[in-house]
Amino acid sequence: MEYVLTANSLYKDYGKFRALAGLSIKVPKGAIYGLVGKNGAGKTTLIRIICGLQNPTLGDYTLYGVEHRSSKISKARRRMGAVVETPSVYLDMSASENLKQQYRVLGLPSFDGIDEILKLVGLEGTGRKKAKNFSLGMRQRLGIAIALCGSPDFLVLDEPVNGLDPQGIVEIRELILKLNREKNITVLISSHILDELSKLATHYGFIDGGKTVKEISAEELEAACRKCMRIEVTDTPALARVLDKMNAEYKILSETEADVYAKINITALTNALSAENCELISAAEKDESLESYYISLIGK
Ligand code: ATP
Repeated sequence: MEYVLTANSLYKDYGKFRALAGLSIKVPKGAIYGLVGKNGAGKTTLIRIICGLQNPTLGDYTLYGVEHRSSKISKARRRMGAVVETPSVYLDMSASENLKQQYRVLGLPSFDGIDEILKLVGLEGTGRKKAKNFSLGMRQRLGIAIALCGSPDFLVLDEPVNGLDPQGIVEIRELILKLNREKNITVLISSHILDELSKLATHYGFIDGGKTVKEISAEELEAACRKCMRIEVTDTPALARVLDKMNAEYKILSETEADVYAKINITALTNALSAENCELISAAEKDESLESYYISLIGK
């Protein structure tokens, strides 16, 4: 497997405070890697380190296989774009002026590609409108557009949907998926919103207290999480008798509700229940599994 980023037992001390305590992750090429951890877990610290904004106290990391102490690391870092904390946007400039400014910073020879980037992030129609008059979601997309200058193939986004409204969240999600699928950009996203990450991530790194608690692919996670069906009936003792006969695992929640941890045929269940004079009121697949997996890893 080819890795865009590997972090090997990274430590970061701020005076006496240890923000990273031996954190290791591996981000495979082509992944959307969700870095999950509650506030203060060390996500931003890791991102600042890999962006070269801070040095680790101990440990090392590689970008495209280049060791961070190597003289070639700046070249490897040019393949990476990042939005760390709040996007660095010039508020008195329009979207295209912001991108031109970034092209100048990167020393790019022409402004070719700016229109394409603006289109990609959905800001092509903003003309002379200044960034200070943009919505938060538009500013976030402009931040991503700036990070895309120089055609990186690795994009690092620190809490990209923080503070956005539901529409803004959907726009950022679709943009990330498009960049990953159509432009083959590997993405590292930090977030504490698991539910949102689960709509995107192909891999997860769960971190807590500056350490990696678990790294897992979305596929492995799916297999590790039990799918569950919440069933509502008129009589759960009757439901229990039927499920026992079907050898299905279940948990009775109340006189009318139960969770069933098995794939069951609804027609067969309805027929069996009606023989017990019990009606099936509703059945819905429930996906609290990711949340409970996370809680079982991190606690609380
Ligand atoms: P959040 O989602 O709140 O940003 P995070 O997982 O990104 O959380 P970090 O910002 O990496 O967490 O911070 C990890 C810990 O390091 C926190 O306890 C934070 O207070 C501390 N910390 C971060 N930067 C500094 C600093 N410059 N000096 C001292 N402590 C710091």
